Amino acid sequence: MVRTLARILDGKATAAAVRAEVRAQAEALRARGVPPGLAVVLVGEDPPSQVYVRNKDRAAQEAGFEVRTLKLTAATRQEELLEAVRRLNADPAVHGILVQLPLPEGLDAGAVVRAIDPRKDVDGLHPENVAKLVMGDPSGLLPCTPAGCIELCDRHGIELKGRRVVVVGRSMLVGKPVALLALARHATVTICHSRTRDLDALAREADVLIAAVGRARMVRGGWIRPGAAVLDVGINRLPPEQGGGLVGDVDFDEAREVAGWLTPVPGGVGPMTIAMLLRNTALAAARSLG
Ligand code: NDP
Repeated sequence: MVRTLARILDGKATAAAVRAEVRAQAEALRARGVPPGLAVVLVGEDPPSQVYVRNKDRAAQEAGFEVRTLKLTAATRQEELLEAVRRLNADPAVHGILVQLPLPEGLDAGAVVRAIDPRKDVDGLHPENVAKLVMGDPSGLLPCTPAGCIELCDRHGIELKGRRVVVVGRSMLVGKPVALLALARHATVTICHSRTRDLDALAREADVLIAAVGRARMVRGGWIRPGAAVLDVGINRLPPEQGGGLVGDVDFDEAREVAGWLTPVPGGVGPMTIAMLLRNTALAAARSLG
Protein backbone atom coordinates (compact mmCIF):
# COMPACT_ATOMS: atom_id res chain seq x y z
CA MET A 1 0.00 0.00 0.00
CA VAL A 2 1.35 3.42 -0.90
CA ARG A 3 0.91 5.87 1.95
CA THR A 4 0.75 9.56 1.33
CA LEU A 5 3.02 11.66 3.47
CA ALA A 6 1.60 13.87 6.22
CA ARG A 7 0.44 17.30 5.16
CA ILE A 8 2.66 19.99 6.60
CA LEU A 9 1.15 22.45 9.08
CA ASP A 10 3.02 25.47 7.81
CA GLY A 11 3.41 27.71 10.84
CA LYS A 12 5.31 30.33 8.88
CA ALA A 13 2.53 30.86 6.35
CA THR A 14 -0.20 30.68 8.99
CA ALA A 15 1.64 33.14 11.21
CA ALA A 16 2.03 35.49 8.22
CA ALA A 17 -1.76 35.42 7.74
CA VAL A 18 -2.35 36.19 11.44
CA ARG A 19 0.24 38.96 11.34
CA ALA A 20 -1.44 40.56 8.32
CA GLU A 21 -4.72 40.61 10.25
CA VAL A 22 -3.02 42.10 13.30
CA ARG A 23 -1.41 44.75 11.12
CA ALA A 24 -4.83 45.80 9.84
CA GLN A 25 -6.10 45.99 13.44
CA ALA A 26 -3.07 48.06 14.42
CA GLU A 27 -3.74 50.50 11.58
CA ALA A 28 -7.36 50.87 12.70
CA LEU A 29 -6.26 51.44 16.30
CA ARG A 30 -3.66 53.96 15.21
CA ALA A 31 -6.35 55.83 13.29
CA ARG A 32 -8.28 56.03 16.56
CA GLY A 33 -5.21 57.47 18.30
CA VAL A 34 -4.19 54.25 20.04
CA PRO A 35 -1.24 52.64 18.23
CA PRO A 36 -0.57 49.31 19.99
CA GLY A 37 2.46 49.69 22.25
CA LEU A 38 4.68 46.77 23.21
CA ALA A 39 7.44 47.00 25.81
CA VAL A 40 10.01 44.21 25.76
CA VAL A 41 12.25 43.88 28.79
CA LEU A 42 15.54 42.02 28.40
CA VAL A 43 17.74 41.46 31.43
CA GLY A 44 21.30 40.23 30.92
CA GLU A 45 23.17 38.88 27.94
CA ASP A 46 21.70 35.39 27.37
CA PRO A 47 22.33 34.88 23.60
CA PRO A 48 19.09 32.96 22.78
CA SER A 49 17.07 35.56 24.69
CA GLN A 50 18.73 38.32 22.67
CA VAL A 51 17.70 36.57 19.45
CA TYR A 52 14.11 36.05 20.67
CA VAL A 53 13.83 39.70 21.74
CA ARG A 54 15.19 40.91 18.40
CA ASN A 55 12.67 38.74 16.52
CA LYS A 56 9.76 39.95 18.65
CA ASP A 57 10.87 43.58 18.29
CA ARG A 58 11.08 43.25 14.50
CA ALA A 59 7.75 41.44 14.20
CA ALA A 60 6.03 44.08 16.34
CA GLN A 61 7.51 46.91 14.23
CA GLU A 62 6.31 45.17 11.07
CA ALA A 63 2.85 44.91 12.58
CA GLY A 64 2.83 48.69 12.97
CA PHE A 65 3.24 48.72 16.75
CA GLU A 66 5.18 51.19 18.84
CA VAL A 67 7.96 49.06 20.29
CA ARG A 68 10.18 49.86 23.20
CA THR A 69 12.99 47.48 24.20
CA LEU A 70 14.35 48.00 27.67
CA LYS A 71 17.77 46.41 28.09
CA LEU A 72 18.95 45.96 31.66
CA THR A 73 22.26 44.51 32.79
CA ALA A 74 22.56 41.11 34.48
CA ALA A 75 23.48 43.02 37.63
CA THR A 76 19.98 44.53 37.84
CA ARG A 77 18.43 44.05 41.28
CA GLN A 78 14.97 42.61 41.78
CA GLU A 79 13.58 45.90 43.09
CA GLU A 80 14.92 47.83 40.08
CA LEU A 81 13.29 45.36 37.71
CA LEU A 82 9.99 45.55 39.59
CA GLU A 83 10.17 49.35 39.46
CA ALA A 84 10.72 49.21 35.68
CA VAL A 85 7.65 46.96 35.34
CA ARG A 86 5.57 49.32 37.52
CA ARG A 87 6.57 52.26 35.31
CA LEU A 88 5.43 50.35 32.22
CA ASN A 89 2.19 49.38 33.99
CA ALA A 90 1.50 53.08 34.57
CA ASP A 91 2.33 54.16 31.00
CA PRO A 92 -0.87 54.49 28.94
CA ALA A 93 1.08 54.17 25.65
CA VAL A 94 2.18 50.66 26.64
CA HIS A 95 -0.48 47.98 26.13
CA GLY A 96 1.71 44.90 26.31
CA ILE A 97 4.65 44.11 28.59
CA LEU A 98 6.89 41.16 27.91
CA VAL A 99 9.71 40.27 30.25
CA GLN A 100 11.94 37.82 28.40
CA LEU A 101 12.53 34.65 30.40
CA PRO A 102 14.64 33.08 31.77
CA LEU A 103 15.95 35.87 33.99
CA PRO A 104 19.55 35.85 35.24
CA GLU A 105 20.17 33.95 38.44
CA GLY A 106 19.10 35.76 41.60
CA LEU A 107 16.02 37.35 40.03
CA ASP A 108 12.59 35.98 40.90
CA ALA A 109 10.73 35.50 37.60
CA GLY A 110 7.47 34.60 39.36
CA ALA A 111 7.45 37.86 41.31
CA VAL A 112 8.21 39.83 38.14
CA VAL A 113 5.37 38.16 36.20
CA ARG A 114 2.99 38.82 39.11
CA ALA A 115 4.02 42.50 39.07
CA ILE A 116 2.83 42.96 35.47
CA ASP A 117 -0.64 44.47 35.11
CA PRO A 118 -2.70 41.41 34.00
CA ARG A 119 -4.32 43.55 31.29
CA LYS A 120 -0.84 44.11 29.81
CA ASP A 121 0.41 40.55 30.37
CA VAL A 122 0.66 39.64 26.68
CA ASP A 123 2.55 36.41 27.50
CA GLY A 124 -0.55 35.24 29.38
CA LEU A 125 1.48 34.04 32.37
CA HIS A 126 0.08 36.20 35.20
CA PRO A 127 -1.90 34.12 37.77
CA GLU A 128 -5.02 36.15 36.99
CA ASN A 129 -4.82 35.19 33.32
CA VAL A 130 -4.04 31.57 34.22
CA ALA A 131 -7.14 31.53 36.46
CA LYS A 132 -9.26 32.95 33.64
CA LEU A 133 -7.94 30.25 31.32
CA VAL A 134 -8.88 27.56 33.85
CA MET A 135 -12.32 29.12 34.35
CA GLY A 136 -12.95 29.64 30.65
CA ASP A 137 -13.29 33.42 31.17
CA PRO A 138 -12.58 35.02 27.77
CA SER A 139 -11.62 38.40 29.28
CA GLY A 140 -8.07 37.21 29.96
CA LEU A 141 -5.01 36.97 27.71
CA LEU A 142 -3.99 33.49 26.53
CA PRO A 143 -0.42 32.17 26.65
CA CYS A 144 1.11 32.48 23.21
CA THR A 145 2.51 29.04 22.33
CA PRO A 146 -0.60 27.11 23.45
CA ALA A 147 -2.87 29.59 21.68
CA GLY A 148 -0.68 29.20 18.58
CA CYS A 149 -1.19 25.43 18.61
CA ILE A 150 -4.98 25.81 18.72
CA GLU A 151 -4.88 28.49 16.01
CA LEU A 152 -2.90 26.15 13.74
CA CYS A 153 -5.59 23.48 14.20
CA ASP A 154 -8.41 25.98 13.61
CA ARG A 155 -6.91 27.35 10.42
CA HIS A 156 -6.37 23.87 8.96
CA GLY A 157 -9.78 22.48 9.80
CA ILE A 158 -8.39 20.10 12.43
CA GLU A 159 -11.38 19.38 14.65
CA LEU A 160 -10.82 19.14 18.41
CA LYS A 161 -14.40 18.66 19.58
CA GLY A 162 -15.03 15.10 20.73
CA ARG A 163 -11.55 13.96 19.72
CA ARG A 164 -8.69 12.48 21.74
CA VAL A 165 -5.92 15.00 22.37
CA VAL A 166 -2.76 13.73 24.04
CA VAL A 167 -0.32 16.32 25.36
CA VAL A 168 3.18 15.19 26.28
CA GLY A 169 4.56 17.70 28.81
CA ARG A 170 2.87 19.45 31.73
CA SER A 171 4.74 22.74 32.07
CA MET A 172 2.93 25.93 33.03
CA LEU A 173 4.26 27.50 29.83
CA VAL A 174 2.98 24.94 27.30
CA GLY A 175 1.68 21.53 28.42
CA LYS A 176 -0.95 22.50 30.99
CA PRO A 177 -2.37 25.53 29.17
CA VAL A 178 -2.57 23.79 25.78
CA ALA A 179 -4.40 20.89 27.47
CA LEU A 180 -6.86 23.37 29.02
CA LEU A 181 -7.44 25.09 25.68
CA ALA A 182 -8.12 21.75 24.01
CA LEU A 183 -10.49 20.84 26.84
CA ALA A 184 -12.31 24.14 26.35
CA ARG A 185 -12.79 23.03 22.73
CA HIS A 186 -14.48 19.86 24.01
CA ALA A 187 -11.58 17.51 23.30
CA THR A 188 -10.97 14.53 25.59
CA VAL A 189 -7.54 15.32 26.91
CA THR A 190 -4.74 13.17 28.34
CA ILE A 191 -1.71 14.89 29.83
CA CYS A 192 1.52 12.88 29.98
CA HIS A 193 4.81 13.65 31.72
CA SER A 194 8.09 12.10 32.83
CA ARG A 195 6.39 9.61 35.19
CA THR A 196 3.75 8.47 32.70
CA ARG A 197 3.77 4.74 32.03
CA ASP A 198 3.23 3.32 28.55
CA LEU A 199 3.70 6.74 27.02
CA ASP A 200 3.95 5.39 23.48
CA ALA A 201 0.67 3.46 23.81
CA LEU A 202 -1.11 6.56 25.16
CA ALA A 203 0.33 8.70 22.37
CA ARG A 204 -1.00 6.20 19.82
CA GLU A 205 -4.54 6.89 21.07
CA ALA A 206 -4.32 10.52 20.00
CA ASP A 207 -6.24 12.04 17.15
CA VAL A 208 -4.18 15.14 17.92
CA LEU A 209 -0.77 14.64 19.54
CA ILE A 210 1.00 17.66 21.03
CA ALA A 211 4.63 17.18 22.07
CA ALA A 212 6.11 19.78 24.46
CA VAL A 213 8.95 18.00 26.18
CA GLY A 214 12.34 19.36 25.13
CA ARG A 215 13.87 16.01 24.11
CA ALA A 216 15.13 15.73 20.56
CA ARG A 217 13.10 13.30 18.38
CA MET A 218 11.62 11.46 21.37
CA VAL A 219 8.29 10.80 19.64
CA ARG A 220 8.85 8.05 17.09
CA GLY A 221 6.74 7.10 14.11
CA GLY A 222 5.41 4.07 15.98
CA TRP A 223 3.89 6.36 18.64
CA ILE A 224 1.56 7.95 16.14
CA ARG A 225 -1.88 6.77 15.12
CA PRO A 226 -2.11 6.73 11.31
CA GLY A 227 -3.67 9.96 10.13
CA ALA A 228 -3.28 11.81 13.46
CA ALA A 229 -2.37 15.50 13.60
CA VAL A 230 1.00 15.97 15.30
CA LEU A 231 2.04 19.34 16.72
CA ASP A 232 5.68 19.50 17.70
CA VAL A 233 6.37 22.32 20.15
CA GLY A 234 9.90 21.22 21.04
CA ILE A 235 12.95 23.21 20.02
CA ASN A 236 16.14 21.26 20.60
CA ARG A 237 19.62 22.18 19.41
CA LEU A 238 21.57 19.11 18.32
CA PRO A 239 25.20 18.83 19.43
CA PRO A 240 27.79 19.49 16.69
CA GLU A 241 28.67 15.77 16.45
CA GLN A 242 25.04 15.15 15.43
CA GLY A 243 25.17 17.88 12.82
CA GLY A 244 23.98 20.81 14.96
CA GLY A 245 20.79 22.58 13.94
CA LEU A 246 17.32 22.59 15.47
CA VAL A 247 14.98 19.60 15.76
CA GLY A 248 11.69 19.07 17.52
CA ASP A 249 10.50 16.50 20.04
CA VAL A 250 9.12 14.44 17.17
CA ASP A 251 11.17 12.39 14.73
CA PHE A 252 10.02 14.30 11.66
CA ASP A 253 11.04 11.76 9.00
CA GLU A 254 9.34 8.87 10.78
CA ALA A 255 6.26 10.89 11.72
CA ARG A 256 5.79 12.08 8.14
CA GLU A 257 5.18 8.49 7.05
CA VAL A 258 2.34 7.98 9.55
CA ALA A 259 0.72 11.27 10.57
CA GLY A 260 -2.04 13.06 8.69
CA TRP A 261 -0.77 16.50 9.64
CA LEU A 262 2.62 17.49 11.01
CA THR A 263 4.37 20.69 12.08
CA PRO A 264 8.01 21.10 11.02
CA VAL A 265 10.73 22.41 13.34
CA PRO A 266 11.64 25.13 12.70
CA GLY A 267 8.70 26.76 10.90
CA GLY A 268 5.80 25.15 12.77
CA VAL A 269 4.65 26.20 16.21
CA GLY A 270 7.51 28.69 16.73
CA PRO A 271 6.31 31.40 14.31
CA MET A 272 2.79 31.05 15.73
CA THR A 273 4.07 32.01 19.19
CA ILE A 274 5.18 35.44 17.97
CA ALA A 275 1.98 35.90 15.96
CA MET A 276 -0.09 35.24 19.10
CA LEU A 277 2.02 37.72 21.06
CA LEU A 278 1.18 40.38 18.47
CA ARG A 279 -2.48 39.42 18.54
CA ASN A 280 -2.55 39.69 22.34
CA THR A 281 -0.95 43.14 22.20
CA ALA A 282 -3.48 44.41 19.63
CA LEU A 283 -6.27 42.94 21.77
CA ALA A 284 -4.93 44.65 24.90
CA ALA A 285 -4.73 47.95 23.00
CA ALA A 286 -8.30 47.55 21.72
CA ARG A 287 -9.55 46.73 25.24
CA SER A 288 -7.83 49.86 26.59
CA LEU A 289 -10.37 51.85 24.57
CA GLY A 290 -13.08 50.41 26.80
P1 NDP B 1 9.70 22.09 30.50
O1 NDP B 1 11.07 21.55 30.66
O2 NDP B 1 9.21 23.14 31.42
O3 NDP B 1 8.66 20.88 30.54
C1 NDP B 1 8.93 19.67 29.90
C2 NDP B 1 7.85 18.68 30.20
O4 NDP B 1 8.17 17.47 29.54
C3 NDP B 1 7.70 18.35 31.69
O5 NDP B 1 6.33 18.33 32.04
C4 NDP B 1 8.34 16.98 31.83
O6 NDP B 1 7.72 16.15 32.78
C5 NDP B 1 8.07 16.39 30.45
N1 NDP B 1 9.07 15.36 30.16
C6 NDP B 1 10.41 15.42 30.28
N2 NDP B 1 10.97 14.26 29.92
C7 NDP B 1 9.96 13.44 29.59
C8 NDP B 1 9.91 12.09 29.15
N3 NDP B 1 11.00 11.36 28.98
N4 NDP B 1 8.70 11.56 28.92
C9 NDP B 1 7.58 12.28 29.08
N5 NDP B 1 7.57 13.57 29.48
C10 NDP B 1 8.75 14.13 29.74
O7 NDP B 1 9.63 22.58 28.98
P2 NDP B 1 8.61 23.61 28.26
O8 NDP B 1 7.22 23.11 28.38
O9 NDP B 1 8.92 24.99 28.63
O10 NDP B 1 9.11 23.43 26.75
C11 NDP B 1 9.02 22.19 26.08
C12 NDP B 1 9.72 22.31 24.74
O11 NDP B 1 9.05 23.27 23.96
C13 NDP B 1 11.17 22.79 24.81
O12 NDP B 1 11.90 22.15 23.77
C14 NDP B 1 11.07 24.26 24.52
O13 NDP B 1 12.26 24.77 23.96
C15 NDP B 1 9.95 24.29 23.55
N6 NDP B 1 9.22 25.55 23.49
C16 NDP B 1 8.90 26.02 22.25
C17 NDP B 1 8.19 27.17 22.11
C18 NDP B 1 7.83 27.61 20.75
O14 NDP B 1 7.54 28.77 20.55
N7 NDP B 1 7.80 26.71 19.77
C19 NDP B 1 7.79 27.98 23.27
C20 NDP B 1 8.08 27.35 24.53
C21 NDP B 1 8.79 26.18 24.62
P3 NDP B 1 7.76 16.46 34.38
O15 NDP B 1 6.78 17.55 34.60
O16 NDP B 1 7.36 15.16 34.97
O17 NDP B 1 9.17 16.85 34.69
